[in-house]
Amino acid sequence: MTDRAAYPDTKLLIDGEWRAGAEGKWLEIIDPATGDVIGKVAHATRTDLDAALDAVARGFKVWSATSAYDRSKIMRKAAELLRERAGTIAPMMTREQGKPVAEAKGEVLAGADVIDWFAEEARRTYGQVIPARAPGVMQMAVKLPVGPVAAFTPWNFPINQVVRKLSAALAAGCSIIVKAPEETPASPAELIRAFVDAGVPAGVVNLVYGVPSEISEYLIPHPTIRKISFTGSTPIGKKLAALAGEHMKLATMELGGHAPAIIFEDADVDKAVKLLAASKFRNAGQVCISPTRFLVQDGVYDRVVERFTEAAAAIKVGNGFEEGVQMGPLANDRRIPALEPLIQDAVERGAALKTGGRRIGNKGNFFEPTVLSEVPSEARIMNEEPFGPVAAFARFGSVDEVIEEANRLPFGLASYAFTGSTQTATRLGMEIEAGMTTINHIGLALPEVPFGGIKDSGHGTEGGSDAIDAYLVTKFVTQTAA
Ligand code: NAD
Repeated sequence: MTDRAAYPDTKLLIDGEWRAGAEGKWLEIIDPATGDVIGKVAHATRTDLDAALDAVARGFKVWSATSAYDRSKIMRKAAELLRERAGTIAPMMTREQGKPVAEAKGEVLAGADVIDWFAEEARRTYGQVIPARAPGVMQMAVKLPVGPVAAFTPWNFPINQVVRKLSAALAAGCSIIVKAPEETPASPAELIRAFVDAGVPAGVVNLVYGVPSEISEYLIPHPTIRKISFTGSTPIGKKLAALAGEHMKLATMELGGHAPAIIFEDADVDKAVKLLAASKFRNAGQVCISPTRFLVQDGVYDRVVERFTEAAAAIKVGNGFEEGVQMGPLANDRRIPALEPLIQDAVERGAALKTGGRRIGNKGNFFEPTVLSEVPSEARIMNEEPFGPVAAFARFGSVDEVIEEANRLPFGLASYAFTGSTQTATRLGMEIEAGMTTINHIGLALPEVPFGGIKDSGHGTEGGSDAIDAYLVTKFVTQTAA
């Protein structure tokens, strides 16, 4: 067993000061592996939000006037601190979110890489000098920070979901109010502490928790906020994007997905099963890019389902602090009643339950790794994002057929394929309607590559060299001698 370390209560960060909410409201934090109350998080109310808005406006003046070189240096220091502290932050994340400690530590370290990437990008927000029509005229397109940002992030990757938004905003010269997840507050607060300790001035980064809808409905229309970024479900994302549109605010939306994972007869089937099973059950399937619709060509279907079922049944489920555990509990108890009807519906429509399908025990939110076979396309699970440890399998015959099935849903986030044919791979890369396609390996979500969806999965990228653009505006300046 790894040391469980004390779990701290989490305060708000407003104007450089860690504080309780003005009205003294707190929310209990539950360990998803035990159901025990382990701590509490401060809740912001209107008074706190007004203070955060004042702070973020002042913070913007300071930070946007700080050189990219100095912003970059502070950010790299934050990354260093995060790496040094990974061993103490990871157990906090496991306690509040449930994922195995090794996975939590991987998330903290990956967060440091994201900060470094954006720290480097900060120094490359190049504009243009445009040839003028008249002599003596200088025409410039300059990139400027958009203004104070409001970011809303979910509980599945408590650090990773914050760090992309926070790092891109800071690299661009923006200040930010982060509304981090109430269910998993301590580890994102430690991420933010690393920035404070690295020397980010007061007011530049603010952290609040509370009632998500109250906070978003107040911050998004507020004139101080110039840009929003949200990660979460498609229905909530549509609401927030509409509100942002009404108030002419730029928005990045990273929403739900329902990723096709396609295995062709000419693929290396063993490799496909091994990689996809590991990817499917990582973080108990509570991942927006998790492979969810397994589409397998007729000739290898039975073999793939059999091997995948063996892999799923062999996964060690348990408390994320126990040695050898590969999958922890679901992060919150509402995920169990969300998953069970999807499985039941598939079985009622003729799917075969190959393994799993049930909650484990009656303490904590443990759920069996689950495999459903021969799932008809009209089953709910083939249409709604399961967001849990369930793999749904269906057959296909031809490339045309599987591309049509992959593109059938309004979602378009991640997609996976395994094939030995370069011709097929090329078609999939071009024709699958998704923001990301990974072929013959799992290669998504590195800081330097694009990360984002299309269609109902949202818009904007949170990785790669375009990501910082979401926090910049282009200003045209033309001048000549007086
Ligand atoms: P939910 O839709 O209630 O909440 C999703 C996230 O959005 C949470 O972090 C929540 O605090 C936040 N949220 C909800 N209403 C909000 C509002 N009005 N303003 C601002 N933030 C708001 O669902 P849930 O039960 O927490 O999670 C289940 C579903 O959410 C999943 O099925 C999945 O589709 C989606 N989800 C997606 C991601 C992702 O990485 N894209 C992460 C977590 C959850």
